[in-house]
Amino acid sequence: SIPLGFFGGIGAASKRGILVKGSNYLEALNNLDTVVFDKTGTLTKGVFEVTGLYPAGETTKEQLLEYAAKAESFSNHPIARSIMKAYGGEIEKEALRDYEEISGHGIRVTSDESVILAGNDKLMKRENIDFQQNDEIGTKVYVAVNGIFAGAIVIADEIKADSRSAIARLKDAGVRKTVMLTGDNVQIAEAIANELGLSEVHAQLLPDQKVEQVEILDKNKPAKGKLAFVGDGINDAPVLARADIGIAMGGLGSDAAIEAADVVLMTDEPTKLVEAIAIARKTKRIVW
Ligand code: ADP
Ligand code: MG
Repeated sequence: SIPLGFFGGIGAASKRGILVKGSNYLEALNNLDTVVFDKTGTLTKGVFEVTGLYPAGETTKEQLLEYAAKAESFSNHPIARSIMKAYGGEIEKEALRDYEEISGHGIRVTSDESVILAGNDKLMKRENIDFQQNDEIGTKVYVAVNGIFAGAIVIADEIKADSRSAIARLKDAGVRKTVMLTGDNVQIAEAIANELGLSEVHAQLLPDQKVEQVEILDKNKPAKGKLAFVGDGINDAPVLARADIGIAMGGLGSDAAIEAADVVLMTDEPTKLVEAIAIARKTKRIVW
């Protein structure tokens, strides 16, 4: 039977916007060893803004942005939303076909007779596009039309106001490892890891490579220690399911993520995890 105090703990947590789906997760929060964060929408706001347009060849800036907007018009990814916002106009979706979102890479769509690709360097390499790497700091969306490189769009995201203090407080609370996993490029991943004081970072990961990293981290922790993964749920439901404690950020998170998660942080603040640990510890003192 479940001691009554656990219900008190779950209730106290829910009043603070932390939904805990079972008393076993409160117990696990007491033994947290490793906390793994997804980047976009979790440690960063996930609100991107286009900061640079670098067309290639004959392409104009306007054309570059329009091609990208066509490709991104069906996507819900934060990157897609920033491109649609910068474009500003309406895209005639009826003129588009064979839309495909390639997880961890980007988008492919056919418009009239042109095949448009918009995504990261991995997508360009996979499709054998002869493209030019962009050296600006930021997340890059490379665009190709009918196999010809059309240019790069640089977009910037912002670190959440409380991410840095969340990492410091997790360390104070006894968490041994704080890790960030991202599909984004190494340069931006390392800049963020330094700024936040994370103990480890892995970049350019596909969704299933995030699962593999979590498995490695899981093997390398002490037997009693627990591993939590915190994500926004865009592409990361499998990782949420794999962790001892899968934690979803509720505000941006998809329904699938909230379903797959063991704990839901309703307000998207990383410091909510620190509060959850404090509640778990207090509950333990009452129960045992
Ligand atoms: P993160 O690991 O930062 O949460 P994702 O796993 O959602 O990011 O995506 C990984 C990478 O794949 C992104 O950084 C981006 O380069 C590329 N990507 C994913 N979706 C899109 C899209 N709709 N348009 C362009 N690029 C995309
Ligand atoms: Mg993500």
